[in-house]
Amino acid sequence: MTVPSPDAAAFARDLCAYIDASPSPFHAVASAVERLEAAGFEPGTPGDGPGPRYLRSGGSLVAWIRPPGACAGFRVLAAHTDSPNLRLTPNPDRGAHGVRQLGIEVYGGALHNAWLDRDLGCSGRLAVRDGDSATEVLVRLDRAVARVPQLAIHLDRGVNDKGLVLNPHRHLAPVTGLGDLEEGAFLAAVAAAAGVDAADVLGFDLMLHDLTPSTLAGLDDEFVSAPRVDNLLSCHAAVEALGALAGGQGTFPSTPVVALYDHEEVGSTSATGAGSPILRSVLDGLLAGAPLDSGASLACSVDGAHAVHPNYSDRHDANHAVELGRGPALKFNASQRYATDAPGAARVRLAAERCGVPLQAYSHRADLRCGSTVGPITASVTGLPTVDLGAPQWAMHSARETCATADPLHLRKLLEELLRS
Ligand code: ZN
Repeated sequence: MTVPSPDAAAFARDLCAYIDASPSPFHAVASAVERLEAAGFEPGTPGDGPGPRYLRSGGSLVAWIRPPGACAGFRVLAAHTDSPNLRLTPNPDRGAHGVRQLGIEVYGGALHNAWLDRDLGCSGRLAVRDGDSATEVLVRLDRAVARVPQLAIHLDRGVNDKGLVLNPHRHLAPVTGLGDLEEGAFLAAVAAAAGVDAADVLGFDLMLHDLTPSTLAGLDDEFVSAPRVDNLLSCHAAVEALGALAGGQGTFPSTPVVALYDHEEVGSTSATGAGSPILRSVLDGLLAGAPLDSGASLACSVDGAHAVHPNYSDRHDANHAVELGRGPALKFNASQRYATDAPGAARVRLAAERCGVPLQAYSHRADLRCGSTVGPITASVTGLPTVDLGAPQWAMHSARETCATADPLHLRKLLEELLRS
C-alpha cells in the first residue's frame, strides 16, 4: 500500500506548516513555543514546581514535564533547529556591473548547487537598540529579495560532463537588485520589515530561505517536499509527542524532556548548541539533589537518516538500505558517530513493538565517511545512555529535501511511546 493514511497525510501537512513557519532556528523555536503553550506549557526554570515548562535561549529550547514526586530518571528527545543555508556577512552589501549583491557565508555542509535559481527570502533576528541595551526582534521577508542565478550553459560548456564546482565566495553571492552599490540598502529593507529603525540595528543573524511552500508530492501524495526536513521533521515530532503527554492522562515513570539545539550543522560547540551546559543544567535542576538512575534513563538523538536513492543504490550498504515510508531507522556506527548501542537498540525496538511502528536499521558504507548528530555529544555531556534514530529522507542538506508522508507520524508515535515508557 503506497497511499498514505489520512492521519499520516494530515500530520505531514502539519509538518509542512511547522517548516514554513520556521525559516530560521529562532523561528523554529518560536513556532515550537507556540505549540507547547497551546498544550499547556509555560516559560519557567527547572526549580519550578510540577508541570509542563520550557526555557528558550536563541535558537535553542528545552521543555519538560516535572512529575509531582521525586525525579529519578529522564526520557530525553534531542533534535536540532538549524539547517545548512546562506548567511549574511556583517557588511553584506557588494556589487559589480550595475548589480547589487550580498556577501554571504555558507552555514554548515550545504549542497551549493541547491541554492541556484531559487526565489530567496531572508529571515533571522536583529539586536535592536533599546536605551542602553538591546532587544531581540525576529524578522522575516517572504518576498523574493535575493537569488543566485546559474551561469548559462553557453558560457560553461563542460558543466554536464565535468560537474558543477561552485566557489562559495565568488559564485554564491546572491543578487538583490540593479543599481550602484549602496551601503546599508539591504539591511534597511530588513529593518523596515521588522518595523525598526535601521540605525538602531546593532547586530543581526540573518539567513536566506527558499520561498517555495512545502507540499505533499507524488501521484498519491507519498512524499513531503520541503526545505529543512533535516531536522525540523524531528523537532516537530518531538514537540508534538511531548505536547500529547502534557494534555493526556496518566503518569510516566521518567521525566520527559525535549531539547532542541541550534548549531548542530557547525559542530554544536556554542552557548546554545548540544555541547553547551543548557540540557545538563536543566537535568541537574530537575533532579534537585536526588541521585540519577542513569540506567533507568534514555536519551534519543532524533535526526534524519539517509534513505536509499534509486539512482545511487550503490552508495548504501546493501544490508542497511533504509527505505522511505517504512518507518524510522535506528542508526549505528562503530566509531560512535551515532550513539546507539545494543541495550539502547533493544529499548527502542521494544517501544516500536508496543506502539506498532515499523523500524529499520541504518549503517553507513564502511568506505564512506559517516555524518554525525547531537547523539554522541548529548551522551558525553549528560552521561545518559543514548540512541540515534530518525526518519529516512533524500537529498539531506539540499535547500529542498524529500521524505515520505507516512514517516513523520511513525516517528511521532515512536517518540511518544519512548517518552512514556
Ligand atoms: Zn541533521
